[in-house]
Amino acid sequence: MKILVYNRKNSEVWTSAVRNAFPDADVRHWVEGDCHDWLADYAVIWQPPAAFFQQQTQLKAVFNQGVGVDSLVSLESLPADLPVFKLRGVGMEEYMSDYVTYGLLHFYRDFDLYRQHQSDKQWQPHRIAQKSDWTVGILGLGVIGKAVAEAVSHLGFPVIGWSRSEKTVQGVNCVSGKEGLDHLLRESRVLVSLLPSTPSTHKLLNQETLTKLPEGGVLINGGRGDVIDIEALQVLLKSGHMRGAMLDVFEKEPLEDSHPFWNNSKVMITPHIAAPTPVAQALEQIVADIALIEQGEMPPAIDKSLGY
Ligand code: NDP
Repeated sequence: MKILVYNRKNSEVWTSAVRNAFPDADVRHWVEGDCHDWLADYAVIWQPPAAFFQQQTQLKAVFNQGVGVDSLVSLESLPADLPVFKLRGVGMEEYMSDYVTYGLLHFYRDFDLYRQHQSDKQWQPHRIAQKSDWTVGILGLGVIGKAVAEAVSHLGFPVIGWSRSEKTVQGVNCVSGKEGLDHLLRESRVLVSLLPSTPSTHKLLNQETLTKLPEGGVLINGGRGDVIDIEALQVLLKSGHMRGAMLDVFEKEPLEDSHPFWNNSKVMITPHIAAPTPVAQALEQIVADIALIEQGEMPPAIDKSLGY
């Protein structure tokens, strides 16, 4: 079996992990211009350039080294009939649950206010609010979104979750469609976006939709940056309609030095670290998926027409 690996920043980590996971396979790392006559059966890749698929014409399947497939499905050279698999959980759901819990408690327990008080040398306790008054709305109930919704529900917060298809998740009021989104926005004190970047989610959170949040709403974005109209968020933070935001992902990463959010005390910025791929666990899933394919079965592939 021939497996081609591509990861521009972490080529050694991924190539040696794939070699360890497939000791009998011929595993190589792709470098643009190389491997012209070496055609792989499988690819384990992260954000390859268009030339990758122009050269690799014998692939049976492609494995994405993360969850987000937005940059992959936007490649015109990606053959329409080539199955693409993204990672499903592999521990990232736990990392993301921790990240969202941190952000939620930060605002719920007024740590944003206490940080400000500290810089003003102000000793001013606040009453602790009822969790029942702090509904958390979660956009996206996929592998990660569902785990986050369950974790937040276990903490005692009311949870509304929104997805494209209808769902049932214990402890979560699951909604879908435009009406479901409207309901979630109007009820949610804390809005958590765990949506993929697709044509239907692009700038879904804009001036009109974010304004539907109750006064003092908070946004946590661990999904993809382009789901949010960042200028609209800035306006709503400035007007006070929104209290704060914790943002891990941006339309353009890294966030440019000149962006006002770096110096905005209402915004917490993290550099896309909410849920990094655990390489060993990822490879366990890829090994199992390739074994299925070799037996003539198909693990769940992404739907390229939906973009996730
Ligand atoms: P999934 O693909 O399993 O789930 C995506 C969810 O979004 C599904 O519930 C889906 O609905 C919903 N959805 C997609 N499009 C729409 C739409 N137009 N309207 C309503 N709902 C929609 O992904 P995961 O849960 O595993 O991950 C979520 C996202 O988190 C990833 O796409 C990725 O971009 C991001 N991520 C970020 C990381 C970080 O470190 N910041 C790390 C890992 C992932 P349905 O269930 O009906 O299909």
